[in-house]
Amino acid sequence: MSELKRYDVPMQRLLQRATPGKFPDDCWAWTGARVGRGYGQIWFFGRTQLAHRISFLLFRDEIPEGAFVLHSCDNPPCCNPAHLKLGSSLDNNRDMRSKGRAARIVGEKHPRAKLTELRAIEILEGFRLGARQVDLAEEYGVSRHVIYDLVRGRSWPHLTAEEQPDE
Ligand SMILES: [Zn+2]
Repeated sequence: MSELKRYDVPMQRLLQRATPGKFPDDCWAWTGARVGRGYGQIWFFGRTQLAHRISFLLFRDEIPEGAFVLHSCDNPPCCNPAHLKLGSSLDNNRDMRSKGRAARIVGEKHPRAKLTELRAIEILEGFRLGARQVDLAEEYGVSRHVIYDLVRGRSWPHLTAEEQPDE
């Protein structure tokens, strides 16, 4: 299946619950389930994910390990990819502090990341479907340790936790 076809369905599902507004600058308010401070939740690759992160993945770019997807509009349910930007946990904390909110500090535990978020999600899905870690390592061109840390919830805890954290 081509990359485009593969992501067609999740794109349609996302657009059903986060309808673009009249103007390109309008927020795409998530109308489905929400979590934390109002982040949307979407079913993607076999589990519940944060909708704004998936919007960023589908419409913008990969998310490097440890990176946050921040809202330039300061509206957590918004999924307008034009309002989303990548930031480090430091940016996130700075953002929170400047907006007078308490920050949940998540450090970049693995600065020499070998995976991006979409790949990590795919690998976890493969693992849940019964793929062997050694085969996943080969397929994605990373060491077995990278796969092991991922499936054990060490390197991408927000993807493996049962509950999505309030980012
Ligand atoms: Zn917005």
